[in-house]
Amino acid sequence: MPRTARSLPDRFRLDGRRALVTGAAGGIGEAVARTFLGAGASLALVDRDGTRLRRLVRSLSGTTPAPITVRADVTRSADVRRAVRAAVEGLGGLDVLVNAAGVTAKGSIATTDPATWRALLDINLTGTFLVCHESVPYLRRSVGAAIVTISSVYSLIGGRDRAAYSASKGGLDALTRSMAADLASDGVRVNSVNPGFIRSPMTEPSLRDPKAMRFFRSATLLPRLGEPQDVADAVLYLASPASGFVTGVSLALDGGRALGR
Ligand code: NAD
Repeated sequence: MPRTARSLPDRFRLDGRRALVTGAAGGIGEAVARTFLGAGASLALVDRDGTRLRRLVRSLSGTTPAPITVRADVTRSADVRRAVRAAVEGLGGLDVLVNAAGVTAKGSIATTDPATWRALLDINLTGTFLVCHESVPYLRRSVGAAIVTISSVYSLIGGRDRAAYSASKGGLDALTRSMAADLASDGVRVNSVNPGFIRSPMTEPSLRDPKAMRFFRSATLLPRLGEPQDVADAVLYLASPASGFVTGVSLALDGGRALGR
């Protein structure tokens, strides 16, 4: 049946869907939260930064239902269990999980110290594992559930001076495919979005560094840099019925950077 102009946007809506977003106080997490609210979802927002989380929720005041917020560190099992339970109890279940909590660090294989390596793997990879592990029993009970993880273009192309970050994100892509296979029979779809350079608090130091900006502008083939909304729009697609036959993919969202020059 041909799609009409009216029915297409409906397939991108999240009315009645209950979503948990980690890293919600960050640049990309906030854009996802605002986009999901606009699409009709009810939200549980999780971050380890309680101050920024409170600031975000104040700026969202007036949205109904008001988002639930949980200050939690995704590397701590007890925190994650508490956050997922609060989301499920407060929202009445769980249909969508977005993993946006993450950190970055520079360093090649020669210059990355083991403590940095462990910290990045712990937050980016193990933290995402823990949140998925606690959420999956609830997502299995939903019809049409979806997990979307924010990975990185570094998992696809590697890249100089990002050994631990690239490895942590490569692990996330592999985990995405593995979970997609495990959960397909339950109807739970699992995908990742792999951004290139996106303006956010994480990339603020680069934004102030002309040499870094020359590099990112020349490595990005489209004539602009990425914005958090670019990522949020892709996450909305992967969380909504519009992507109902898509699972196990890692979607490059990088202005063509992975193509090389
Ligand atoms: P950001 O620094 O603005 O946000 C990250 C958020 O994660 C912060 O609010 C932080 O408090 C939270 N966080 C970090 N560790 C946590 C922990 N242990 N427990 C709970 N929360 C924790 O960065 P962003 O640009 O919004 O990045 C979001 C995700 O997107 C990250 O996974 C990042 O690796 C990924 N990403 C970002 C870019 C980019 O260019 N900005 C590119 C590719 C991928």
